[in-house]
This record gives sequence, C-alpha cells and structure tokens, in this order.
Amino acid sequence: MIPRGAVIGVLGGGQLGRMLALAAYRLGYRVHIFAPEEGPATQVSPLRTLASYDDEPALLAFADRVDVVTCEFENVPARAAELLASRVPVRPGVLALATCQDRWLEKGLLASLDMPTAPWRAVRDEHDVARAVQEIGGPCILKTARLGYDGKGQARLASPDQARQAWEEIGGPSHRLGVVEGKVDFLWEGSQVLARGLDGQLAFYELVENRHERGILRETLAPAPRGSLALGEQARLLAARIADRLDIVGLLAVELFVLADGSLAVNELAARPHNSAHWTQDGARICQFEQLVRAIAGLPLGDPGLRGPTRMLNLLGEEILERDRWASTPGARLHDYGKDELLPGRKMGHVNLVQRG
Ligand code: AMP
Repeated sequence: MIPRGAVIGVLGGGQLGRMLALAAYRLGYRVHIFAPEEGPATQVSPLRTLASYDDEPALLAFADRVDVVTCEFENVPARAAELLASRVPVRPGVLALATCQDRWLEKGLLASLDMPTAPWRAVRDEHDVARAVQEIGGPCILKTARLGYDGKGQARLASPDQARQAWEEIGGPSHRLGVVEGKVDFLWEGSQVLARGLDGQLAFYELVENRHERGILRETLAPAPRGSLALGEQARLLAARIADRLDIVGLLAVELFVLADGSLAVNELAARPHNSAHWTQDGARICQFEQLVRAIAGLPLGDPGLRGPTRMLNLLGEEILERDRWASTPGARLHDYGKDELLPGRKMGHVNLVQRG
C-alpha cells in the first residue's frame, strides 16, 4: 500500500492524465506528470517533468521522485517502462504495457487464450499483405502494428491487388510491421472495462455500446441498450481472463464486436483509462479514474455499480464551443480538457447525461 501523500507518477500529459490527477488529489495523493510537453494534465499538476520518453537521465530522476508509476499514454516505449520498473513499481506492469501497444503481441495473447477475434495475419511488407487478403478472403483492414489510434494507421482493402496502395497509405514502409484483419460484420460495438486491484480483486463496469464516426468514438451508452445478461457475462469472463493473464494492476478496457449469433469477438485492448468509460465519472458509483488510483495505491476497489443509465458524448473540435448549451442542459455534466488548440476531430471534452431512475 502506498501511504497518504505519496506521489503517483503518470506517464503522459493528456486528458486521461488530467482526470486521473484530479481523482488522485481528491484521495490525498500527489501526482507527478512525465510528458514530452505541456498539456491538459500539466495544467493541474505542479509536479512535472517535460522530457522525451527516451531521455534516460530524466526517467531515472522521475523514478526517484515518485512512489508508483502508471500511464495514461499507450505508447510509452518498453525500454522506458523497464527502466522505471527497475526502480519503482510500474502498474500495470511492463508486460501489459508492451502487449497493449503492439497488435502482434495483442493478437498473439488473445490466440493463446483461445479468444475469438477477427481472422488476422501478421505482415511485414506488401507481399505479405496481398497473401493475407487472399487467405482471409473478402474485405479486409490493414493496420499498423504500433502507434495507431482513433482509426489512424488503417486502410481498407477489397482485394489482394490493393495491397501496395494500402501498405503505402498506412505508412507501411516506415512502420514495417502490420496486421491484416478480415472485416467483421458486427451488429454493434461495445466495450468491457474492469479494474483489478493489487490483490487480484476485480470490479467490472457495465458492458457499454460505443458508436464511432470516422474511426473516432462519438458516444457511449451505458448500459448497452442491446446488451443482455448473457452478453454481459461473456464480456466479463473474457476481460477477467485477459486481466489475470497480464497480471494487470489498474484498468483494462476490452473493445468488442457483437456478432449476429450473440457471440463476441475481441477487437483491441487498453490497459489505461479509456474514453468508453468516461461515463463512469457521473454514471457509476466510483469512476474509472478513482478505481485506477485505488488499484495502484493498494486501496480496496470501489463500487462500480450504475447510478443511472448514462450517455457520454465526446465533444470534438469546435463542438467544445457549445459548452454554454451543455452547461444549461439539466442533467448534463460537462468535462472540458482545457485544450487551447481547436482541431477538427480533436477530443476537446465530453458530456455525461445521466438519467436518474
Ligand atoms: P481500432 O483502432 O482497431 O479500434 O479500429 C477503429 C474502428 O474501426 C473500430 O472501432 C471499428 O469500428 C473499425 N474496425 C476495426 N477493425 C475492424 C474489423 N476487423 N472489422 C470491422 N471493423 C473494424
């Protein structure tokens, strides 16, 4: 257990780090942000190191000033996580961080657990891509193995002769590693988020439905309107097995496809706070950010139960300028990340609309 007043080190300076820091301060901890530049998280944290993730002297100095490290940014280099872990507990661990940032490792893990996914092949060049599309058949999606987010680093292919163009489109020549997935004909997309404590205790949030636009999360509905007891049970079981295998201390989000036959396929994993669990800030008894703080600090996890059905709406780009409207909407809770630069599609904030029963 880390004591009151201890310092939680956070890798990453975005909105997830900001909301995590706010939850940590409320529970009596301090937070030290490590990020390459100022951002939403450094606005709320007086302790910060501005350095790149491969600056080893800066990482070591950071390790000496914090009691535990977690991350809000998916793509922390494995070397940085290992270096930190040699000095201070890193939660979730190095294995979880490495696995969730690399689609090869992620798919390999899911296969070793016998979990349903889209059919997939690992690829290293355009010839592999053409062969994979041939073998899988039908429309496919090519994704970079690393550094993809919000639908970036992805290209769609209808046939093997589009391999070269797709490989170039995702910047394949510079990434070098990718996966080709068969396009899944899903009914809807969901996610299952859980927290796992230092002692292995699990707390599950409701299975939610996620709606995307152009690869970016638009809204989350909690609980999933098209969910069922059986789907919820399946989702919890999948997520628990993955979290146990990765020995996660913290959060795990499992993005899921719901298929017409009532079964689930796993799309991808994140071992950090997740956009599809922002609804928990107002719609659950204890939110994902507090659960993460509790987990890494060795406190008992809180009640993940539902306060009321909730709709989370992301505010992208200029939509944040409608904050007055949301501020005057009864039942709406506005969360503004304090970002200055308005870019189309950039996540600027979100609104939670909770229906109380
Ligand atoms: P990802 O970054 O892998 O989560 O992909 C972003 C979005 O693209 C997903 O939320 C889906 O809407 C869509 N997508 C990704 N992979 C597939 C797939 N194999 N089949 C169908 N749609 C997909």
